[in-house]
Amino acid sequence: MKILVANLGSTSLKYRLFDFSSGQEKLLTRGGYERVTDYPATIESCLADMKKGGFIQSDSDLAAVGFKTIMARNVNGCVRLDEKVLKAMEFYNPIAPAHNPPYITGVRLFAQKMPNTPLVGLFETAFYQFAPEAAMRYAVPEAWYEHGVRRWGFHGASHKFIAERSAEMLGRNDVAERSRQLYVNNGATPVQKPNLRVISCHLGGSSSITGILNGAAIGNSMGLSPQSGVPHNNRVGELDSFAIPFVMRTMNLTIDEVEKQLCKESGLKGLSNHSNDIRDVQAKGADGCAKSKLAIDVYIQNVRHWIGSYFLQLNGADALVFTAGIGENRPELREAICAELDQLGIMLDPKLNAQTKAVEAVISAPESKVKVMVIPTNEELVVAREVKRFLEKQ
Ligand code: ADP
Repeated sequence: MKILVANLGSTSLKYRLFDFSSGQEKLLTRGGYERVTDYPATIESCLADMKKGGFIQSDSDLAAVGFKTIMARNVNGCVRLDEKVLKAMEFYNPIAPAHNPPYITGVRLFAQKMPNTPLVGLFETAFYQFAPEAAMRYAVPEAWYEHGVRRWGFHGASHKFIAERSAEMLGRNDVAERSRQLYVNNGATPVQKPNLRVISCHLGGSSSITGILNGAAIGNSMGLSPQSGVPHNNRVGELDSFAIPFVMRTMNLTIDEVEKQLCKESGLKGLSNHSNDIRDVQAKGADGCAKSKLAIDVYIQNVRHWIGSYFLQLNGADALVFTAGIGENRPELREAICAELDQLGIMLDPKLNAQTKAVEAVISAPESKVKVMVIPTNEELVVAREVKRFLEKQ
């Protein structure tokens, strides 16, 4: 069974092709296109590349195309992306303006190109379906809640990968297996007994922290929208809701201007007044730029805030995991995030930390009660596995 997973941005298309034939789980090929202007032609090129490489003979060799979709009204889990679901995604365009529209457009184009191939989405919100209600509610009027104003949680596929992989690395295959079973549409419920507490830090262009108990998420730093929680590259992160009416009234900003500024001109970019890439911000900070240094400090402060929150909710932690672009590649940020946490049992091994980039490793000192780990994430594999499970149930 061959499953293509397509990662759609507004001007990018990345893909991975998996083969699940005869019990294996193999990445056949991967590729991507940046600065896409003609999406239909790019889909065509993607299919042509896979044929040229001999990975598929024709489009019909693909059992399905899987997508890491973000959110939809009254839809969660792993579902077929028909027009009804795409409409339900459209409803949340204002909450996920950078994410939902490119998926909706891209999926419609795939549907035109491959009308007989199932197009299946695994929603990023799916991993939080077992989180306690109290962790997912805002204190707003009930009508708002019924309209969808609640915490949803995102980066579900990535944190799900970390839930399984960290359990395996800790020798807890029982929890990894439970986590694998425990996902969407399969009626499983989380188990309380085998106590394994993991805090997963997905730190990248966008960042979120998740607490994981026995393979199931108990919450996520992102709430209603993927703009919330920790500051992101150019998106705001946590903000007191009263800031919005305040700036609209006193700075005469329109709602569209506010949305654009929170979405495109905030986060690391807003704080540093310079760049949305942490590498540039760090380099400028090291050169003495006070705003850039502050941007990094705010980021670190926010990551520590959420780690602290889940450390408390989980009554400690067995593992603290770093993943994604920043988490996997920036030892100096991991060091700053873990600084002076020895009383909580979190102690890095400076040498192991410094030498670990984009590979799986334990980077804590032997005496650290909490194992600190780096695990490169594999969101596409999680999507492909769920799409396979979805197809098998049809
Ligand atoms: P996302 O998928 O949310 O865009 P990624 O996981 O691809 O995030 O992370 C990309 C971000 O990671 C970049 O914005 C960059 O700031 C940061 N980063 C830091 N160091 C590196 C590195 N060595 N390689 C790639 N990205 C890095």
